[in-house]
Amino acid sequence: MENKKRYYPISQYLKETFNKKVYKITLDGGFYCPNRDGTISKGGCIFCDETGSYSRCNDKILSIQEQIKKSMDKLSAQFKAQAFMAYFQSYSNTYANVEKLKEIYDSVFFDERIVSISIGTRPDCVDNKKLDLISSYKYPWIEYGLQSANDETLKLINRGHDFECFKKAVIETKKRNIKVCAHIILGFPNETKKDMLNTAHKLAKLNIDGIKIHMLTILKDAPLYEIYNKNPFYLMNMEQYCETVCDILEILPPTCTIQRIAGTGYSETTIEPQWVNRRFEILNLIDKIMIQRNANQADKFNRK
Ligand code: SF4
Repeated sequence: MENKKRYYPISQYLKETFNKKVYKITLDGGFYCPNRDGTISKGGCIFCDETGSYSRCNDKILSIQEQIKKSMDKLSAQFKAQAFMAYFQSYSNTYANVEKLKEIYDSVFFDERIVSISIGTRPDCVDNKKLDLISSYKYPWIEYGLQSANDETLKLINRGHDFECFKKAVIETKKRNIKVCAHIILGFPNETKKDMLNTAHKLAKLNIDGIKIHMLTILKDAPLYEIYNKNPFYLMNMEQYCETVCDILEILPPTCTIQRIAGTGYSETTIEPQWVNRRFEILNLIDKIMIQRNANQADKFNRK
């Protein structure tokens, strides 16, 4: 591989697809979350704080076009970026009626350097009309929060949906040629390594196109903090996390783009584990383990 990674990073996919330097621009479309406003629940997922686990990504005062222009200028100057993927990151970005969604999504395509759109949301927050709309844009992606394929875990963390809901959403999404990226979290207190790898196997079976993997993190203002304070539970260390990430990489399909395996959190809101903020160390250790194992992404991918 050109970049010598033993997995398929999103940067490589973007280079191969567009033949130029494409960067993601994170956007705040002003959406909120049905798991916080009382529609599903008021508490939200237990690991998520009021910012949506760093979900609010831009100055809310700026319009979408202003957010894009600001990021385009910065990324062009800093990295010589030539094109951009507009990524709606904050909260649930399909949580509005389809007319409103069209107005918001349309607004990103004011500059021809926007070559793709990616929309982060919950799997229970899409329907056929919304998916049809999203499929009408250039190179569309949807990023679905799943966190775990284990229904017991989904209950424990108050996700408000089960794995079946995620599966149905992925099937409907892929039917429309929209690419799917799944977000998962490793290290829930009830989960064994077998559970975490089972999540990877289920995602591989759905042939997902991308993944973001996070370590469970106790944030200062998340409900999990109170639970952890009363009853501290074991949190994986960096080595255990990296070993598990490598196991997952070996299970995933070769075409699955690896979009995040080390976080970009804020150390001031992280209670535990503090190592999650040592991003480059994590990435280097994952590279090292893959080399030591002489392993590559998809080595254990089961095509059946
Ligand atoms: S993680 Fe996402 S779905 Fe869960 S409460 Fe936070 S914003 Fe809502």
